Amino acid sequence: MLEGQVVKLDRGYPLVRTEAGDELRCKHATALVKGEKVRAVIGDRVLLDIPEAHDKAIIAEILPRKTEFVRKDPTERALPQVLAANFDTVLIAQPIADVNLRRLERELVLAHETGADVAVILTKADLAESDEDIERIARKVGDLVGARDRVLVVSAEEPESIDAVRDLVAPGTTTVLIGKSGVGKSSLVNLLVGCEVQETAEVREVDGKGRHTTVSREMIDVPGGGCVVDMPGVRGLGLWDAESGIEAAFSDIEELAASCKFRDCRHEAEPGCAVRRAVEKGELSQSRLDSYHALRSETNEIRERREEAS
Ligand code: GDP
Ligand code: ZN
Repeated sequence: MLEGQVVKLDRGYPLVRTEAGDELRCKHATALVKGEKVRAVIGDRVLLDIPEAHDKAIIAEILPRKTEFVRKDPTERALPQVLAANFDTVLIAQPIADVNLRRLERELVLAHETGADVAVILTKADLAESDEDIERIARKVGDLVGARDRVLVVSAEEPESIDAVRDLVAPGTTTVLIGKSGVGKSSLVNLLVGCEVQETAEVREVDGKGRHTTVSREMIDVPGGGCVVDMPGVRGLGLWDAESGIEAAFSDIEELAASCKFRDCRHEAEPGCAVRRAVEKGELSQSRLDSYHALRSETNEIRERREEAS
């Protein structure tokens, strides 16, 4: 048996890079994991069987995933779908002149839910009105994002601005890029790689509205660094079942809450509230706390509705 990693999905068929550096096309996209059929995704580490009479490998085993990017259907009609596995970092891209904080807070939850490190990339800095504007928006985003996740500003017009992103894409690591279409993800990948990346892998997918979209999904090697996966068309930013993601994305607030006087403190007007105290001391921004409250109450409502329905 050979061990390798799925680096590309070619019309749904995994292309596996072995430790020796060979790339093998697999006959099937699925393998049995604990008796269940599981579809191999980009980043999966797999064990391959190479039947003598065939040229194509068979995935005998999908090894346990370190991280997973899961798309969940907010209407709960479709089963959750894993889009990528075993990455170390999630980069969330949004254009600086058109930042959507409500979208960003959801992207943060989604990104943190994977268990990977998270950073926010504000793109197209050249389109901002002024340097003051860039600073003001980056600060506003930083207030929402918290101290742990980095916020970087880049522009395709200034290749040096990409260097800070390059540091995040360290050798031996895999980075997943998420963000709405058009925010500049492929431009960022091209700058990291230093040339136009050919889009060869295509995956046909049915999106939330039942349309078929063609998206590419492959691991791209960054010279002198790790790999990046551009993940276009990630929809379903609904917060179904996102509690663990909220806890991870807002772990600082969760930690502070452990010191509140009342165990069921809502961090509103209760005495002895460690969270409000942090806001007063300027250690936690009001906007981050507001996001946390809004996301929490949204997931609580979803859960209550679900419990009523069952
Ligand atoms: P993706 O859909 O997220 O991969 O976005 P693309 O990388 O394809 O970029 C969408 C559009 O924005 C393209 O027309 C790019 O040329 C443009 N674009 C990307 N980055 C920048 C940038 O830093 N500055 C400006 N002015 N345009 C950019
Ligand atoms: Zn409190």
